This record gives sequence, structure tokens and C-alpha cells, in this order.
Amino acid sequence: MTAITIDGPSGAGKSTIAKKLANRLGYEYLDTGAMYRYITLYLINNKIDLTNKDLVCKLIQKNGTLKDEFKLLDSETNMDIRSKQVTRNVSLVSSYDCVRTFLVELQREISDNTDIVLDGRDIGSVVLPNAEFKFYLTASEQERARRRHLQYKDSSSDTYEEILKDIIRRDAYDMNREISPLVIPKNATIIDSTDLTIKETIDKMLGCILGENNAI
Ligand code: C5P
Repeated sequence: MTAITIDGPSGAGKSTIAKKLANRLGYEYLDTGAMYRYITLYLINNKIDLTNKDLVCKLIQKNGTLKDEFKLLDSETNMDIRSKQVTRNVSLVSSYDCVRTFLVELQREISDNTDIVLDGRDIGSVVLPNAEFKFYLTASEQERARRRHLQYKDSSSDTYEEILKDIIRRDAYDMNREISPLVIPKNATIIDSTDLTIKETIDKMLGCILGENNAI
């Protein structure tokens, strides 16, 4: 079984690339950011004070059905987990050790015995450090904000400047948190996609995975 990990900062195109790469290879795909977003949404919906770490941890440990709920993520929930309120709070929630322990365990369970592409912030460094292929996908802050703005322009009123500010804030939070900060995993191939199209980025990855003659 083969695992391919794609880590990198917000808006680098990880989800788009990971989904397409998985499709191309006939692999499963796991969006781990969606899991951290889902927990954040669950806490917000239950009116939990997100700064109260003890309470957050108690709730997660007590809720026996949370694991199963991830399987039910539908397109409606998908919209909600991308909301401004969730985006603003997800980095705080994902900095708690109890949240990370819970999700890392689940991510390993899901990846077990499956050909899979996973994207996130700590996949190649913590979740699956022995994965066969590891990538660190990045792009300039400005290009990442430009892409996010384009992606959400029909569903959100956020300006380019607001998105850029949020990307810089989340990068700093994710890179400087105590537990599992965003780092370039050991032995990962770094791809800067600032000047690359989606196809060029995927071709680069396929080149690493299948060798230069990546006829598939
Ligand atoms: O990838 P996405 O932007 O949806 O991730 C949302 C947030 O979830 C990130 O900013 C980060 O705080 C957190 N995250 C994480 N570890 C992962 C995936 C996401 O801490 N593996």
C-alpha cells in the first residue's frame, strides 16, 4: 500500500492537487484540514468557549460518535466548514494536543491498508513519517491569497486584502504552535507552485512518483 503526503501553508492548492492526484492514481483522498474544520464547527454549534481548552478536550473525549460523523460530511457541511467563523477559529482549535491526538489516530486508521493521498500540515512529519512519497507544496503569500479570492468570490464577500491578512495570520499560527507545527517534513520534495499551473504541479509530482516516463 502506498501513502502520498502533501503538506504546506494555507491556500497553496494542496486540496485541489491532492484530489486530482488521487483521482489520477486511483487512490483514496483524505482532506485532514476538513477534519479540524469539522471539530471547530461542532464546537461553535454547541456554543463552546473555544479558548477553554479543558472543556474542548472533555467534549471530544466524551463524544463517542464524532469519529463516525466524519464519514457523513456532505456538501452542505462542506460549505459550513469553509465559513469565515470556522476559518477564523480553526487554528486555535487545532493547536490543542487532545484535538491533534484524536485526529492523528483517526487519520492513521483511515490510511491503514489503503493507497491514499493525504493533505494537511503535519502529515509527512507526524501522521505518516514513513510515507512512500512526501511533498511540501508552497507558493508566495500573494499568489495564495489571489487563488483563494478567486475560488470563493461567488460565495464570499471577503476582499483580497482580508484573505491575504488571514493567510499570513494562519501561517504564523500553524508554523509557531508548540505541537506539530507546520514544517518541511524530512525527505519531502519541495514544490513552489507560484508560477506553475495545476497540471504542471501534478506532472512534477507524478514525475517523482512514477519516474520521468509517467505514462498512466
Ligand atoms: O487545509 P485547511 O486550510 O482546510 O486547514 C484548516 C486548518 O486546520 C489549518 O489552518 C490548520 O490550523 C489546521 N490543520 C492542522 N493540521 C492538519 C490540517 C489542518 O493543524 N493536518
